[in-house]
Amino acid sequence: MHRRTAPLAMLTSAALLALPAAVSVAPAAAADRGAAGARAVDVVPVRPSTAAAPTGTCRLPTPQTNLAEGFPVAAQALPARGELRAAMIYVDFSDAEAPSGSLPAAEENLRSGIEYLETVSGGALDVVTTSSEQWVRMPEPAADYPFQRGLSYADHVRYIEDAVVAADPVMDFSEVDVVWVVATREAEAISFSPTTNFLDVTADGQHLGHAVTFGYDQWHWGGLVLAHETGHTLGLPDLYTFAGVPDEDGGLDYHSFAGGWDVMGLISGRAPELLAWHRWMLQWVDDEQVACLDPDARTATVELTAVEAGGGTAMAVLPLSDTRALVVESRRALRYDHQIAQEGALVYTVDTTVPTGSGPVEVHDTTPGSALDKDDATLTARHSWTDPESGTTVRVVRSTDRTDTVQVRPGRG
Ligand SMILES: [Zn+2]
Repeated sequence: MHRRTAPLAMLTSAALLALPAAVSVAPAAAADRGAAGARAVDVVPVRPSTAAAPTGTCRLPTPQTNLAEGFPVAAQALPARGELRAAMIYVDFSDAEAPSGSLPAAEENLRSGIEYLETVSGGALDVVTTSSEQWVRMPEPAADYPFQRGLSYADHVRYIEDAVVAADPVMDFSEVDVVWVVATREAEAISFSPTTNFLDVTADGQHLGHAVTFGYDQWHWGGLVLAHETGHTLGLPDLYTFAGVPDEDGGLDYHSFAGGWDVMGLISGRAPELLAWHRWMLQWVDDEQVACLDPDARTATVELTAVEAGGGTAMAVLPLSDTRALVVESRRALRYDHQIAQEGALVYTVDTTVPTGSGPVEVHDTTPGSALDKDDATLTARHSWTDPESGTTVRVVRSTDRTDTVQVRPGRG
């Protein structure tokens, strides 16, 4: 059964509206190492201390209601813990027929995205898929869906609704959280892969509020496009810029803010594992794993465990204002980051007032001028970097194969 309900009603998730407040407080504030007076930064012992403030001060609020950095996560996002029940509808068209036997290749192409979500979440997210198990014919030719002609929200909803109606005889939507419409590789007209969290379709008695439609670009990106789009379903914004930023060569750089450091930035980047900040938003990192630094402390020393390794302290967060923070995390060539250009401490600024696609996260290049641009932005052992804006200095005092011990000295003003 399928019917379409009145448009524009927004699904709200009670679970996410009720995000828990900071339920834990970081370890008691350590002695302010600088209290005895000026002291050379590099002689401070490396024994970890956090000079910590309650985690809540680092839980930056966002004034935005849609996809954004900060808290609470967008109300219409799906919960990032527990089961994510996805209906995979494989579709083809009268002008783009799927060759017989081509479904397993389409399935295989996206599988790594599902594996990514389960791995990077540390098992917190369990993706459960049901499949149409056959190509379902859409009612209109591929060329009639205007993906290459300024696809509107209404156009996108019509495409998703057509797929749901076409698949309804062979699929049960009664226990589905998100619809994934996968177009045959023959359909170049279905050119890209947008997500909506504002779907309003009911099938088999289930209200469907979330969908991703995978188009021709899935064959360029591979399975991590599914991880990126699901990131939106869970409330994460885009880190690349929609408009691009003019570069030296007269072109546009779409990745000038975050480079290849997070799947929400560049899907094909060298280090596509999610930033620790994003993991915290999704509750894949606990409050206990966040060292929330006191901006009034002289210095804080934190032993960070590589985010890819899991466990330990995932990041140090220094609030710069009510809506901005400097974040330091550790990255290693593990799992999906195996092609990382330079291991070390990654330093970035989160701004919860900046909209999706406008650079809400800025990764700081601590090695400016290198040929690798931001791919080697990390800070390595015995190197330091000072934020020109806040005056905050970050120094890596010691590194092991899985940790970076960093010292953060907040700027004064
Ligand atoms: Zn996106």
